[in-house]
Amino acid sequence: MPVQLPEKLLSSLKGLSGFNEAEFIKTHQQGESLTSIRLNPWKNPSIANNEGPTDFNLHFHIKGKVDWSSFGYYLSERPSFTLDPLLHAGAYYVQEASSMFLEQALKQSTNLSKPLRVLDLCAAPGGKSTLLQSLISNESLLVSNEVIKTRVHVLVENLIKWGTLNTIVSNNDPKDFARLENYFDVMLVDAPCSGSGLFRRDPDAIQEWSEENVKLCSLRQQRILADAWPALKNNGILIYSTCSFSKLEDEDILDWLLENFEVEGIQLRTEANWNIVETDAEKSNAYGYRFYPDQLKGEGFFIAALRKKGEEEQFHFPKNNKKLIDKPNKNEEATIRKWISDDQDVELIKRDSHLYALPSGSLSDFLQLQSSLYIKKAGVLLGKFAHDELLPDHELALSSLLSPKINHIDLSKEEALRYLRKEEIKLEGNPTGWAVLQFENRNLGWAKILPNRVNNYYPQEWRIRI
Ligand code: SAM
Repeated sequence: MPVQLPEKLLSSLKGLSGFNEAEFIKTHQQGESLTSIRLNPWKNPSIANNEGPTDFNLHFHIKGKVDWSSFGYYLSERPSFTLDPLLHAGAYYVQEASSMFLEQALKQSTNLSKPLRVLDLCAAPGGKSTLLQSLISNESLLVSNEVIKTRVHVLVENLIKWGTLNTIVSNNDPKDFARLENYFDVMLVDAPCSGSGLFRRDPDAIQEWSEENVKLCSLRQQRILADAWPALKNNGILIYSTCSFSKLEDEDILDWLLENFEVEGIQLRTEANWNIVETDAEKSNAYGYRFYPDQLKGEGFFIAALRKKGEEEQFHFPKNNKKLIDKPNKNEEATIRKWISDDQDVELIKRDSHLYALPSGSLSDFLQLQSSLYIKKAGVLLGKFAHDELLPDHELALSSLLSPKINHIDLSKEEALRYLRKEEIKLEGNPTGWAVLQFENRNLGWAKILPNRVNNYYPQEWRIRI
């Protein structure tokens, strides 16, 4: 059955910059499926060194680079990602190519060499948060927030796999961020929307589209932006994006922002051969960027960068008592340091019996965020002490903190899949004790080798079931 796009959607798009109805319909009917991934630079040294995806060429059939991304590649076919151990090791994230343009919006509007406080307000499942994390400096802090409780666990899982230290995950409503007035340098609002940009990939969603829902989404987008607005510093950057083609959710939101707040649009550079359409909002002329699937290799997407006007002010931390933070004792600290790479400068904190590492110098931020938000993950959970011994957590194995001196064992693909299914594994000839299991040099998680068996410590709730 040919894909039937809603008539009312098509008529609402007529006359918009770059919209070519015949090509747009044809592309949706052809239903080409694109697969793209974005590599994690710290788990792929060749990407960090600008040498390209050298060992990924052996792993996947890479068809080409995503033009506007430093880390994004198209694959020639869609593999079974679940059965790829490197996905579970956080070596890459499967992400639609158009959304990777966030990199350009951020780089072109922000000085990324400065320590920044960045908020990803609508973050689950974590595609844009993992990208933001790859772009900001180690001295910067990313707060990755998701309001819907049932969606937070997948966000936490994806960020643990990505292996980040400078990230905090919260589960708050946008209006709670008003408590952090003048705190963030950058705020990304990747808003919930009517989703027409993904109709080619998911034609079943077409039935759920209605004009009424577009209007509801537009009102919700305004509410989200207005609620979180005080948290953005003067001179701070707002990046707004949707996967909807509807003007009511895209350019009209820019008009609404410029009408109601002290803010200005930012023009972004694009290359002519990227075929991204620059639009301007009807009343305010604010710049927006449209991605039409008939014109580029990506799905439908809209993005804009704006600057909040006004004199920049520093955020003043209220006097909070750092002494309230529990620290590990000397013996515990000495034990933990053996698990952490020598070059890592971290703050260690203890909560109940759990030990966490936070980026050095981030305690005031942590206390501030803890008193304002409902925090679901902060820094890296290292583990907990049981009988003076550290029981290492999965987060430590997947993080950049782990000491290379910890015993590690390479697995074949078959063994790695057995491990990820939480099945019994045999690791004969290895010394007893904790070992981090690896596949193609990337850490998968912990095992404890005992004289007569191996205990598989892969998290039960993440095990693969196929
Ligand atoms: N940024 C994510 C990524 O790249 O993986 C995708 C975000 S998705 C487009 C929008 C998110 O907004 C969803 O996770 C949804 O749960 C959340 N959301 C829904 N209603 C919301 C609301 N009223 N306020 C804030 N976020 C909301």
